[in-house]
Amino acid sequence: MAETNIPTFKLNDGTEIPSFGFGVFKIPADGSTYKAVADALKLGYRHIDTAVAYFNEQEVGKAIKDSGIPRDQIWVTSKMWLQDFAYEDAKKAIDTSLNKLGLDYIDLYLIHQPYGKVDEAWKAMEEAKKAGKIRSIGVSNMTVKIWNEFVPKFATMPSVNQVQFNPYFQQKDLRKTMAKAHVTLEAWGPLGQGDKELFNEPILNDMAKKYGKDVGQIILRFEHQEGVIVFPKSVHEARIKSNKEIFDFELTSDEMDAIRALDRNGKGMHDPDAPGVKDQLLGAFDVHAND
Ligand code: NAD
Repeated sequence: MAETNIPTFKLNDGTEIPSFGFGVFKIPADGSTYKAVADALKLGYRHIDTAVAYFNEQEVGKAIKDSGIPRDQIWVTSKMWLQDFAYEDAKKAIDTSLNKLGLDYIDLYLIHQPYGKVDEAWKAMEEAKKAGKIRSIGVSNMTVKIWNEFVPKFATMPSVNQVQFNPYFQQKDLRKTMAKAHVTLEAWGPLGQGDKELFNEPILNDMAKKYGKDVGQIILRFEHQEGVIVFPKSVHEARIKSNKEIFDFELTSDEMDAIRALDRNGKGMHDPDAPGVKDQLLGAFDVHAND
């Protein structure tokens, strides 16, 4: 079993979350998710990011169980899908996630997409937190506009906001709002989902050469030093291993500034504020197709 040298970040509810983990979006539930999560755990990962809408919670849970690693040493995040936001549905959805994962509690549960009856879903999540079914609760894909629409009505401040983040898309305005509210940012797509242009950036390649690292490690290290939680995805054991090797070097403040300057200050590949997004998402992921 690999050494785990992953630093934790303290969330606004006092819990310590491993600042680095493993994402399983788009990994099929045909044994591939089981293998990828088992490999990640063997290589020292202790934080897995899944969702109801990834359709692979069951394999995540089985890999965790079979790893033999004590439950309290692994951080598990899952997310409620749009179809389940009405209060009674939301309560049921949390129990379904627990059952699929085969766990007594989930470390972090998120509102996956912020549309519709978000307030009812949030209430069910607050209650599940009180009941010990969830340790921390948070949101995802909230822009400043969406944040201001929903969060002032919440009784509990979210602990995280999981949004698209990479050197081209650094969410500078949103991060100011999050910092004021002591909410930690989680990056989805921390490697730009493998964006070739990003991986070819000359300054990132120069830094990779200097530190004897690869470009993926430079990007993830930058994000870590920015205080952002990352969980890159890969199904290849060599990349699962190398992506985690970012805790034995440090970028200088000039290097951090140079990567900060890559920000394009624009819209990401997914724009949560765009009209029609909710319907597109509902059309793309039907979490009750097999009910
Ligand atoms: P990512 O940025 O982690 O990129 C993954 C892709 O990058 C891989 O499929 C592979 O093609 C490539 N890659 C991985 N390691 C590499 C390396 N070392 N060198 C070169 N290429 C490499 O993208 P992601 O999977 O979309 O995001 C990470 C996680 O974030 C997801 O798995 C999921 O858990 C979460 N996520 C959440 C949301 C949300 O709406 N909340 C959306 C997307 C993803």
